[in-house]
Amino acid sequence: VFNFSAGPAVLPEPVLRKAQSELLNYRGSHQSVLELSHRSALFEAILDDATSLVRELLEVPLDYDVLFLQGGATLQFSMLPLNLATTHRVDFIDTGGWSQKAIADAAPYASTRIIASSRDDHYRSIPAGPFTSDADYLHVTWNNTLEGTTFQEAPRVNVPLVADFSSSILSEPIDVNAFDVIYAGAQKNLGAAGMTLVIIKKSLVEQTPSALGSYLRYDVHAKHHSLYNTPPTYSIYLTKLVLEWIKQEGGLQTITARNRAQAASLYDALDHSNLFSNQVAHTDRSLMNIPFSTGQQALDDAFIAYAERHGLVNLQGHRSVGGMRASLYNAMPTTGVEALLSVLRKFEQGER
Ligand code: PLP
Repeated sequence: VFNFSAGPAVLPEPVLRKAQSELLNYRGSHQSVLELSHRSALFEAILDDATSLVRELLEVPLDYDVLFLQGGATLQFSMLPLNLATTHRVDFIDTGGWSQKAIADAAPYASTRIIASSRDDHYRSIPAGPFTSDADYLHVTWNNTLEGTTFQEAPRVNVPLVADFSSSILSEPIDVNAFDVIYAGAQKNLGAAGMTLVIIKKSLVEQTPSALGSYLRYDVHAKHHSLYNTPPTYSIYLTKLVLEWIKQEGGLQTITARNRAQAASLYDALDHSNLFSNQVAHTDRSLMNIPFSTGQQALDDAFIAYAERHGLVNLQGHRSVGGMRASLYNAMPTTGVEALLSVLRKFEQGER
């Protein structure tokens, strides 16, 4: 089947095959990666490879730490204010459901302010700048998984900029220097659920307040190179395989070109359809998550069932948005998008 899930999402087949081939006997150790000590040389090599591949593929400057943590992107919603809100003020650009979750989780620790929102537009666009902030940091949700919007440019502000890249990390190049913290849960473009990537400027790590439990502190994780406690070893291993796959595919440039072509072909089909449409402002459309609908729930439901019968699964939209959503993460092959286009066409022509 072609899996259009928003996450956990499709993984590249070569990654799954490699993981399968190494499952019982990792590199002659007669142990599975699942069984390796996180203090073993074999696992430390996996962690080192994953770290240097993140640095290489995203061109992460040396004044940033690369951390592999647990707790999903959701734990970052709390860790960020706990570590960085030194004067207890955090600003947000509200672009939908995941922004709101981040705002709600910061609220116990800081006064939260929304400096711009696309709520009045039903979150079908990204608010236009310029933005001003004098808070401890400004938080943005770069790619909005539910609504299918994305920032194209990092807001320019005079405070640290923090961005949730959960659903678009490694789909396109990122100008890491424009951000102070970039974070992403793994289960879309990076690998398997259980691991969260945090790329954080070293100068911010040094600000961690002292009255904070060890797991919640960025400085503890940075000092121990993500080995303070038992890290999500297998998720880190899968991420290493995914990063190696990206390199083998030709690097981020090849992946970006493929993502852009695939998203463009789906948007083009939706824009030319008499039945289906995508309501997102053209300039703010996500490459990764593409919501669409017929405008009638019964017809949407019939389409989802029809697509499933043709091997296209998990096309239902998020319950807060309705309709359909095709998530075209890095591992979605072009044949999957072509299959979706064909099913859209046939359904529109009346096939059921
Ligand atoms: N932020 C965004 C943009 C997401 O899409 C998601 C999950 O889908 C999350 C945060 C939450 O991630 P997690 O489930 O890893 O906590």
